[in-house]
Amino acid sequence: MQPKPILTIVFIVIYLTGFSQVKNVFRENHEIATMEAKAAGLRQEVLMGVGNFSKASANFDINYLDCKWKVDPGVRYIQGSVKTGFTITERTNIITFDLSDELKVDSILFRTGKISHYRPFDHSVIVNLGVFLDKGNKEAVEIFYHGIPPVTAPFSSFTTSAHAGVPVLWTLSEPYGGRDWWPCKNGLNDKADSLDIAITTPDKYTSSTNGMLQSDEVKSGFRTTRWKHRYPIATYLVAFAATNYQVIQDGVKLGNTTMPIMEHAYPEKANDFLNAAAITKRTLQLLHNSFTPYPFIKERYGHTQFGFGGGMEHQTNSFMQNMSETLIVHEAAHQWFGNKITCGSWRDIWLNEGYAIFCTNLNIEKHYPEATLLNTYRSQINFIASSPNGSVYVDDTTSVSRIFDSRLSYNKGGWVLQMLRWKLGDSAFFRATRNYLNDPALAYGYARTADLKKHFEQVAATDLTEFFNDWVFGQGFPSYKLQWATGGGSWIQTTLNQTTSDTSVKFFEMPVPLRFKNTFNDTTVVVNHTKNGQVDFFRIGFVPDAVFIDPKLKIVSANNTVTRAEIFPGSGNVMVFPNPVRDEFSVLLKDMSEGVLNLSLYNTSGQLVWRQRFGNFSGADLFVVPSANLAPGSYWLRVNKDDDPEIVRKIIK
Ligand SMILES: [Zn+2]
Repeated sequence: MQPKPILTIVFIVIYLTGFSQVKNVFRENHEIATMEAKAAGLRQEVLMGVGNFSKASANFDINYLDCKWKVDPGVRYIQGSVKTGFTITERTNIITFDLSDELKVDSILFRTGKISHYRPFDHSVIVNLGVFLDKGNKEAVEIFYHGIPPVTAPFSSFTTSAHAGVPVLWTLSEPYGGRDWWPCKNGLNDKADSLDIAITTPDKYTSSTNGMLQSDEVKSGFRTTRWKHRYPIATYLVAFAATNYQVIQDGVKLGNTTMPIMEHAYPEKANDFLNAAAITKRTLQLLHNSFTPYPFIKERYGHTQFGFGGGMEHQTNSFMQNMSETLIVHEAAHQWFGNKITCGSWRDIWLNEGYAIFCTNLNIEKHYPEATLLNTYRSQINFIASSPNGSVYVDDTTSVSRIFDSRLSYNKGGWVLQMLRWKLGDSAFFRATRNYLNDPALAYGYARTADLKKHFEQVAATDLTEFFNDWVFGQGFPSYKLQWATGGGSWIQTTLNQTTSDTSVKFFEMPVPLRFKNTFNDTTVVVNHTKNGQVDFFRIGFVPDAVFIDPKLKIVSANNTVTRAEIFPGSGNVMVFPNPVRDEFSVLLKDMSEGVLNLSLYNTSGQLVWRQRFGNFSGADLFVVPSANLAPGSYWLRVNKDDDPEIVRKIIK
């Protein structure tokens, strides 16, 4: 889902202005029903944070759904039936569905007759099968119902509105709204493996839903469209809409497959859809080629216009307020991240929304100048750092506004991925993401944060516990303080410190890029920042006049400072670097008297291995000592000045 305000002029600006509107866009929490003690063992008491939003029982596994809905877009009312085919997972004579108490159950069919049910007034339907079913039994029940779906402020999962004076009706169930308009399992634990939908409206309207259109029939003043979808689908991704849609048929080449695209546009906005066709195709190709094949490639993709301020990634058919490029990419990305693999709990919504943000950035990276990308990055980082606290991992799933917190679940979630790409490199990042999407335990099912972490760790062959603890479960961001100095013309010394914005993270271990430049030269080095006060030396070959932290925006950080020191700080009059030494090392001398200088190197047996005499030492200079031929071990560097006491430094090779 991507909520945003109606007036978004420059798409980059939405990161600054749009997401701050989330609280206003999303409805308040549903009422929290009181937990009742009923039919012990039949209820999923608290399932992955859904808790009071799903009472559906875990004793049946949904196989298919056959939905028949009759609506008039001008009237807030639904009449329909949902036939649920299922496999019993635990011997029982009772199964429970979620359904709003606002909706009346007319009858329930099982095998050849009607069966009884009970409504405990907690938005559920307890279905009495009248016979015990054993584990493995495959059966179906068909629930007939009608009513006025509840209005939940400020918007509902079932909405009637108008465009250009014409009524329009749409559904948007994420995260907890499915039960508001159909009998379902309202949690994140059981995808239907396939789905058939028939929608009947007055014949002047056209409807749109998931999957492939099978038939379109007008009879006695009503139009019925029948659809089928043969991929697993989560409850919140089932949706339909109806108005006087203009249907646009198109196609896109994905590898060797030409896949249909079916758009449902308001007639007055059909040109917007036609103009955006190239972007839609380019986006599907980018994601198909960067990650894995489009997940529903045997069917189709498309958009359906609706009046919600933003978009919603309904499976195979994203619902769109408009056809802005950012929204097109965001919702298309969800077909992989959110629909093919669905967050296994609303705590892990960043697995959906973070990747959607990542993909909008990837689109800019591929199709726009670098300056546009960096401006986008800058806006996102500024937004993330606009508050010092808050974790990407959702700490309160009873709050819809917390689940869809644009700063944390969306932007910082996206930046967890940006930073993994930076830390592990492009090859490992994309390989791990492909492995995640292809994992048979996750594909067309659900994933938690630990599942994604495992795939990155396997590809990178490294433990990422600290990274995830800092950036996903922990809060805040670092502020870097860099002090730098030149020595001997070609060497740079850096001292890097950081403070963190929240006490939950003591230190963010990250590779930090540092850029050095002057009129003729420009070079970037990377410090692997592991501790405060860390000193590093680089032989960059020129004297810079400007130094920048993280010039290409690889890390979420803010309030960084860079200061230049007069001369290398620390370590007294004699500094040796790097140490341990490699093929050569440098000796920096300062604040000494002028005259004759002797540098000599002894091994631990006291044998002289190297010596040099300098007749006109100025009191401060930098000397390079060759050390390629030294055997590994410890050495003593002795610095003798005629008038000064001898200074000794230990050197390791
Ligand atoms: Zn989204």
